[in-house]
Amino acid sequence: MSTSFTQNLIAVQQRIHEACQRSGRQSTGVQLLAVSKTQPASAIREAFAAGQRAFGENYLQEALEKIAQSADLAIEWHFIGQLQSNKTRPVATHFDWVHGVDSLKLARRLGEQRPAGKAPVNLCLQVNISGETSKGGVAPEAVPALVEAIAPLPGVRLRGLMAIPAPCPPGGDPRAPFHAMHALLSRLQKTHPELDTLSMGMSADLDAAIAEGATIIRIGTALFGPRNPTPSQTPADKGMS
Ligand SMILES: *Cc1c(COP(=O)(O)O)cnc(C)c1O
Repeated sequence: MSTSFTQNLIAVQQRIHEACQRSGRQSTGVQLLAVSKTQPASAIREAFAAGQRAFGENYLQEALEKIAQSADLAIEWHFIGQLQSNKTRPVATHFDWVHGVDSLKLARRLGEQRPAGKAPVNLCLQVNISGETSKGGVAPEAVPALVEAIAPLPGVRLRGLMAIPAPCPPGGDPRAPFHAMHALLSRLQKTHPELDTLSMGMSADLDAAIAEGATIIRIGTALFGPRNPTPSQTPADKGMS
């Protein structure tokens, strides 16, 4: 198991390296987030031993258990799932990053509930870049106003944008949604140069995402292998697993 994680990690790092070379980027500009949802705490421990430090979780209850079991490890925790506004307190308390922010209310609550002794929690706004009616995220047109509202809030540090594009249609350009995300961030940076993050790219499409400027890629199956379904998974989550 640990050997296979290490081998997978080396293979993913090689893909990152090649994608960066093709687009003239430095691999240090791409952070690898290991998506450990449905994986046991022992898998996180092995990944940590292999050198991985940032982990992403989708399901709050499962995440809190694994965070407690990994309390002796210096892990950077990223919440990447859908967050209900009545569940913000444990996220504000235990996570360093939240990628799925799609409302002012959510951002405000996370900031208010961030423990005073901790650095502000890093946020990415989730953009519904493919215009899917069933998906979470803010419409691209609504992003600039939301950035203006969230950027000054105490307790949070707005870092950039996140997206989960729809599967690429046959004959479509897999880079198109990532390109649109990059263009949107570039426009925002004119008035908000502090925004430095594009969280996009998963196991199947990390290469296209890096070519279009991803700074955090969120990788599950390419690192840990296939996932088992968890009881905490709701039908709405299934598309994501
Ligand atoms: C599950 C998940 C990932 C990882 O997906 P893989 O295809 O396994 O790499 C990335 N981002 C989000 C938001 C996810 O839910």
